[in-house]
Amino acid sequence: SLLYSLTAASFVLCAAVLAWDGKLVLGHAPSNWAEDLSLVIVIASMTGIGALSLALNQGRLARHHQREAQTDALTGLLNRRALFDLHGKTPVSAFTAVVVFDLDGFKAINDQFGHAAGDEVLRVFAEVLCAGLRPNDSAARMGGEEFAMVLRRILPEVAGATAERVRAAFAARTIETETGPLRCTVSAGFAFGSTDGMSFDKVLSAADKALYAAKRAGRNRVLDFRLAG
Ligand code: GH3
Ligand code: MG
Ligand code: MG
Repeated sequence: SLLYSLTAASFVLCAAVLAWDGKLVLGHAPSNWAEDLSLVIVIASMTGIGALSLALNQGRLARHHQREAQTDALTGLLNRRALFDLHGKTPVSAFTAVVVFDLDGFKAINDQFGHAAGDEVLRVFAEVLCAGLRPNDSAARMGGEEFAMVLRRILPEVAGATAERVRAAFAARTIETETGPLRCTVSAGFAFGSTDGMSFDKVLSAADKALYAAKRAGRNRVLDFRLAG
């Protein structure tokens, strides 16, 4: 805006100088100090506007690509890589919980209702997962029908209750698909960091262990790593 305004002002100055000199009808191109100044301003502004437009557009594109690279296209959640970018490098405290979810019998849903219905189930689960999230929490699709949630500054019993709320809300949901309504359940496992800080990888694999204990125990349940055995 500044560069366009500067250019416009230089044209107004040219007009003012011509009017001041009383040259209201011209037989040839005008030539005076205002014209020379305007030429310099126009060349500098147009070059600047071109460079700025290119740089701004390039920046916008880069941000768009970065967002795309961090987002799961089907659900709009973060992807695995983005979750590791966010949490992978900092030690996990005893007041941070990692919850992993895996949909139950999902292969059978795909087989019975079709892949598109399976995709709809994934989208609905992502919606349920996000519904109870606080601003500092994050949720990601780790791949396939596996999801994770990182809850910061949370007490153990509250983390368990949060995961349980997601499980119950999803189990209660009837999902409308093109091949008819269906229901699905989810199993979850959760674990905490430690007071001296644990690696994100370790907490994730502890939560995974709890998840598989939940599967073995019959699915559609949430298990705490400390009670998973
Ligand atoms: P379990 O209760 O033990 O978790 O059984 P499961 O059937 O859920 O687990 P399994 O690992 O056998 O099957 C996962 C299925 O998820 C297999 C795969 O085809 C399907 N899947 C993975 N990604 C997608 C996807 O993006 N869309 C759809 N529709 N299906 C997917
Ligand atoms: Mg799985
Ligand atoms: Mg599964």
